[in-house]
Amino acid sequence: MKQLKGACLCGAVEYTIPDALRYAGYCHCSECRRFSGSASSAFGGIPKERFRLLKGEHAIRHYAKSAATVLAFCGTCGSSLYADKPQRGMLHLRLGSLLDEPSLAPQAHAHVASKAAWHEIGDDLPRFDGPSNLSQRAAPAG
Ligand SMILES: [Zn+2]
Ligand SMILES: [Zn+2]
Repeated sequence: MKQLKGACLCGAVEYTIPDALRYAGYCHCSECRRFSGSASSAFGGIPKERFRLLKGEHAIRHYAKSAATVLAFCGTCGSSLYADKPQRGMLHLRLGSLLDEPSLAPQAHAHVASKAAWHEIGDDLPRFDGPSNLSQRAAPAG
């Protein structure tokens, strides 16, 4: 299977995943907005065991924002890398950290009820006021 490479801005952290995202979307919640510094966070779900760190283990910092979500970022340049979902065995990769193009593009907008007032969504993807149902619709492992 085709591999996708990703990296933080300074290059301290590099990783690879198979081009097999189970789902992908945009999260507009206030926490993702603050963490990303942007209107939303583009994320893609990949089982944790399929993520392979190529370098930068010691550069990665973690912030446990809840029992369900541990955010990972580069301690040198601050790039957001992924959200670890330990209860589900999934990583929500920040799609912006990929250097290669994934086959699966974002499929929906989540937490639209708390999106930034100054941001207009400019596409026709499904919108959810709260969490999307993307992970429930996820394709079987493959
Ligand atoms: Zn970095
Ligand atoms: Zn969010």
